[in-house]
Amino acid sequence: MNLSKKVQALAPSATLAAAAKAKALKAQGIDVLSLTVGEPDFATPENIQKAAIAAIQSGKASYYTQSAGIPELRQAVVDYMQKNYGLTYNVNQTIITDGAKFALYLLFQTILDEADEVIIPLPYWVSYSEQVKLAGGVPVFATSDEEDSFKVSVADLEKVRSAKTKAIIINSPSNPTGMIYSPEELQAIGQWAVDNQILIVADDIYGRLIYGEHTFTSIAMLGEAIKDNTIVINGVSKTYAMTGWRIGFAVGKEEIIQGMIKIASQSTSNPTAVSQYAALEALTGDQSSVEAMRKVFEERLNRLYPLLKEIPGFKVQKPQACFYFFVNVSETLKLCGYQEASSFVEDLLNEAHVALVTGAGFGMDQYVRISYATDWETIEKSVQRIKAFVERKA
Ligand code: PLP
Repeated sequence: MNLSKKVQALAPSATLAAAAKAKALKAQGIDVLSLTVGEPDFATPENIQKAAIAAIQSGKASYYTQSAGIPELRQAVVDYMQKNYGLTYNVNQTIITDGAKFALYLLFQTILDEADEVIIPLPYWVSYSEQVKLAGGVPVFATSDEEDSFKVSVADLEKVRSAKTKAIIINSPSNPTGMIYSPEELQAIGQWAVDNQILIVADDIYGRLIYGEHTFTSIAMLGEAIKDNTIVINGVSKTYAMTGWRIGFAVGKEEIIQGMIKIASQSTSNPTAVSQYAALEALTGDQSSVEAMRKVFEERLNRLYPLLKEIPGFKVQKPQACFYFFVNVSETLKLCGYQEASSFVEDLLNEAHVALVTGAGFGMDQYVRISYATDWETIEKSVQRIKAFVERKA
């Protein structure tokens, strides 16, 4: 049977594929070190685990919930937006989803018709372009300079705007670069989007993993007109070490959110009940674990940065957030005789047993993404192996 054209055209997730490859080699007994993962290496905090167990034992996790999510969690999201963003929403402007990833999926299904365009700044998180395509839309990539930390300006966006532009995705802090837009930069983009009636999709999933003197501002916080024109995507995966629980949320224009709820009702019915009760504890319970985990990531960032700079040809910018480095390896590739990062990454895995994600998955094939969401020993050993590999090949 022929699979649908949609599926034939779909690329599998590059990050998940890289992680799976490393796991497969590990299963063969090979000592593989993986810096591929996009998830905290901590167990979900105990208070959250306990809330989930209580929800199971009381029986309330046994049943379907509302498609939009349990009312207590939707209210907790409203309170979260008030407390962390200073923004007021009503419960009908919220939806709880199976991870932030499915919130994005529902959103594109809700707003896009055939050939509608979505502007995606490069480099971009792997799923944006594929999800836009699955919804019949066309991803249009906006480029910027590495010297500007890959942050797009209005001038960059104007180059790709067309009559078909329906939305723009702003992912700040960014996966893969770990860079944050300033309020001024966001204000300019927000005003441009409002003036051109382009919906802003603000993927704020890394908004609580910020380091040094840097601070987080969501584009939705920059005035009433921009807020009304923005759908905020967020979730508990990264902040609360809850990737496996699959809970995210979206907040914004009621008409759009209600469209998303309608699709959820005909697809997943509802996010897993027990996970919703766990997420309720995450958002409303003791917050001390959030800061404790953030501090560990920051320590790793500060230790890893100087080590990466010692690898021949690595051009490294110090990230401000998330748990990734997005390294320009074009010099390293030249030194070692590679055309693009994918074959470098492949040989590194097979010969030195270190797994990284090639930049190609993020739209840039002269880069690699290195995650430090793993224990320090693994990070340190991996860097030693990468350095030795490059020195051997050069
Ligand atoms: N957005 C970005 C930029 C991400 O990196 C991820 C996860 O890797 C997600 C969204 C999805 O997060 P989740 O579906 O686990 O909530």
